[in-house]
Amino acid sequence: MSLIVQKFGGTSVGTIERIQSVADKVAAFRAQGHDIVVAVSAMSGETNRLIGLANEMEEQPTPRELDVLVSTGEQVTIALLSMALNKRGCEARSYTGSQVRILTDSVHNKARIKSIDDANIRSDLDAGRVVVVAGFQGADENGNITTLGRGGSDTTAVAIAAALGADECQIYTDVDGVYTTDPRVVDSARRLDRITFEEMLEMASLGSKVLQIRAVEFAGKYNVPLRVLHSFQDGPGTLISLEDDKTMETPAISGIAFTRDEAKLSILGVPDIPGVAYRILGPVSDSNVEVDVIVQNIGADKTNDITFTVHRNDLAKAESILSATANELGAREVITDSKIAKVSIVGVGMRSHAGIASKMFKTLADVGINIELITTSEIKISVVINEKFLELAVRSLHSAFDLDEAVVE
Ligand code: ASP
Ligand code: MG
Repeated sequence: MSLIVQKFGGTSVGTIERIQSVADKVAAFRAQGHDIVVAVSAMSGETNRLIGLANEMEEQPTPRELDVLVSTGEQVTIALLSMALNKRGCEARSYTGSQVRILTDSVHNKARIKSIDDANIRSDLDAGRVVVVAGFQGADENGNITTLGRGGSDTTAVAIAAALGADECQIYTDVDGVYTTDPRVVDSARRLDRITFEEMLEMASLGSKVLQIRAVEFAGKYNVPLRVLHSFQDGPGTLISLEDDKTMETPAISGIAFTRDEAKLSILGVPDIPGVAYRILGPVSDSNVEVDVIVQNIGADKTNDITFTVHRNDLAKAESILSATANELGAREVITDSKIAKVSIVGVGMRSHAGIASKMFKTLADVGINIELITTSEIKISVVINEKFLELAVRSLHSAFDLDEAVVE
């Protein structure tokens, strides 16, 4: 029999009826003889409601008190789920993060887990009980309640699974798995049976928001197999695990990620001497603007052009910083474009398949899409294009790389 950690998100425990359904599901697993620890989120909307209350009280809520407040959301669901399980004859006990004890650092509102004391959990499991743990929270060395940042229940589940050496960490949510791309953009997007941690990180950081990125990083670091499943539909979901050498045929590409909300800035005609890139990008990062793609072109006249992308919300800030730098450096011009999008193909199979990049570029050329910037990493190729071609680009690449769902005749 296995030891399984199951995590249910806010929509899965959003009403009493849904908590009853979750309890049916957990009890059925338990009846098969598995040891089960459940981590739950607050009822959907509850964390936002609590943050709203805090904002009515204080413009900038005191971080420590905000944690005391928002952690109550999960305290409600652990108790209700445990009651539902006990009513079904499936003995269960609830624990808040600090009761477990999930020890975190003292950075309120975005604390990091340092260690998990598994004594309480183990003794309950040994006694045949299901253990229900509040997601998203812990306590620091002095017992202050902390929370892990929005979406943090995923991280709680993975951390518990790592601490217990669980066989699998199952994340139940409102989708039935991880898809080759966003099904709202490509009808024929397909659920992946499996994907590696590395690929999932690229997909998640590029905008496929199924799992909290930190949770995936954590799972990869401790090699905890993660499975994303639908809370109320049966199915195998998507397994996220280490790369498996035994998988004979790795597809070249596992998925296509994209973001619409970037903007591009270029500074033209800066001197081609040491220190210039630093003088341009240093002040941008000092002002906490996150820079994504960076490209430098060498001009014929001993000057360089540097182009980079930022989140669209940061464009105005980045532009004013860059204009000031342009004056200091005697640059020719600063130009910006807020109508760009980034499309990336992701896959560990890229390592062993040649010609992936040229196939991507040809596919885009065939549909008349101009590529503005290109960056690559070992398992990803990204292009920046005009935003209005985003959907066409994603659909064309999806079919070029054979990701479309097979048509059932
Ligand atoms: N309830 C928290 C949130 O809404 C944590 C979570 O759901 O994972 O962010
Ligand atoms: Mg959530």
